[in-house]
Amino acid sequence: MTHQSFNPADVSVECGHFIDGRLVSDHQSAVPVLRPSDRQTHAELPLATASTVDDAVGAAETAFASWRRTAPRERAQLMWQWAALAEKELEQIAQLESLVSSRLYAETLSVDVPAAFSWIRFYAEYADKLEGSVTSSTDQGLGLVVKEPYGVVAAIAPWNFPLVLAVWKIAPAIAAGNCVVVKPSELTPFSITRMAQLAVEAGIPAGVINVVHGLGPETGAALVKHPGVSYVTFTGSTATGARLMADAALHGLKPVSLELGGKGPQLVLEDADQLDRVADHIAWGITRNAGQLCYAGSRLVIHRSLEDEMIGKLQKRLSKLTAGPTWGADTSLAPIISQAQQSRIEMLVNTTVEEGAECVLGGRGMEGPHSALFFEPTILRALETDMTGYKEEVFGPVLGVQVFDDLEEGVSLANHPSYGLTASVYTSNINAALIASKSIQAGTVWINTWGRKPDNMTLPFGGMNQSGFGREAGKDGIEKFLRGKAVWIDTPTA
Ligand code: NAD
Repeated sequence: MTHQSFNPADVSVECGHFIDGRLVSDHQSAVPVLRPSDRQTHAELPLATASTVDDAVGAAETAFASWRRTAPRERAQLMWQWAALAEKELEQIAQLESLVSSRLYAETLSVDVPAAFSWIRFYAEYADKLEGSVTSSTDQGLGLVVKEPYGVVAAIAPWNFPLVLAVWKIAPAIAAGNCVVVKPSELTPFSITRMAQLAVEAGIPAGVINVVHGLGPETGAALVKHPGVSYVTFTGSTATGARLMADAALHGLKPVSLELGGKGPQLVLEDADQLDRVADHIAWGITRNAGQLCYAGSRLVIHRSLEDEMIGKLQKRLSKLTAGPTWGADTSLAPIISQAQQSRIEMLVNTTVEEGAECVLGGRGMEGPHSALFFEPTILRALETDMTGYKEEVFGPVLGVQVFDDLEEGVSLANHPSYGLTASVYTSNINAALIASKSIQAGTVWINTWGRKPDNMTLPFGGMNQSGFGREAGKDGIEKFLRGKAVWIDTPTA
């Protein structure tokens, strides 16, 4: 991969909410937006008050009246124009994405941002292919189920893949005829705001996509509770998701979809082939974005006979990573997003070691160049199911290791009592793969690999149990933004 870098001082940002096609600043209060790569403040972010949220929802409600009636083919055309215009700013958007997040520029430039454009096109293609149905009808009448958009969708996104995860919500919602108010994470507000501006420049009417900035418990909660919001789509932590669901229930009983945390197992069976390849997947699965990944493969569940060999391979791979700024050409280990997150990872690792796990690599937070915060890639052996590091989502480059003796025990360990987002199974036996994929409670099971394939857009993504419900990506990712209306037409008898 050709690594490229940029100078953060050269990246200018426009700070403000984007409402009804205009950038507006709510001057009552603001928070600094830090660059995790050098701990410098890049800009001050205005915080939306309830009244600003009200303006944004009002703009979306107004736009919805005509957007829902815009011919689906025209909606698709406008979305294609949006993707094409944004593509001309690929580098700038990738820089906005990497500037204040933990996403390496080498990846935002070649993976994240191009993927965001592809998702816009993917969902544009669905705009005129969303069908209702004709139900069992009689001579006296015709029964139809007509699919309609909800109206205003609140889209609340996290900081770890700021743009793609927001686009997973915005693109299908608007293709289906809804209008959206997005609240990005207060840590990573810039790329999505620029994308919303480009949507209007490309011809998508003002008010179809609005962005408000602010803290979760204030701005986010005001958005969820707003009576003009008809549907809430959320990606973030399980604790926040639960709070938000309660707010949605008590303020209008609006539907929610929740994409939450994970604790993904990497289940390596005794007959796994090509252990070096398996080790590559496991290493990438726990160090990509420094493990700040909902679908991180954070639990190695491995047959006892392979444990020593695999740990040796992983120690080699994980020790080679180079910590550095997201914009550094040689960086392979991303910074940790915040001081609070670094302290939390350290606390979880220390507690788990005190509880009896053996730390065989890493284990400490570290300060890198320019005071950036990192966490050493860490392996915790002898992880037990009553330990903190097993129960909690760590959201850092920390791999816990558990061993098993037969398939049944391996599958049972792979199943987590709370989380069920993703799982990987490594085996050369197709029957064992099928048994494991049927028995593991997770929204996604990968066989002999880890991670979504960028060129597969059709598979849905989402969790079970405490990892949430509702699906993003694929066809499921757009169908959830429509609701069915039953229509009965009395027909005259001859
Ligand atoms: P978070 O829950 O702290 O915040 C997510 C978003 O919710 C932010 O925009 C935040 O401002 C907002 N928010 C916070 N409190 C709110 C409230 N009371 N009402 C409304 N909005 C509120 O999560 P995070 O730290 O930004 O992201 C990390 C978490 O996200 C991890 O747990 C990770 O596993 C999860 N995640 C899940 C997926 C998935 O697809 N399942 C993808 C990425 C991240």
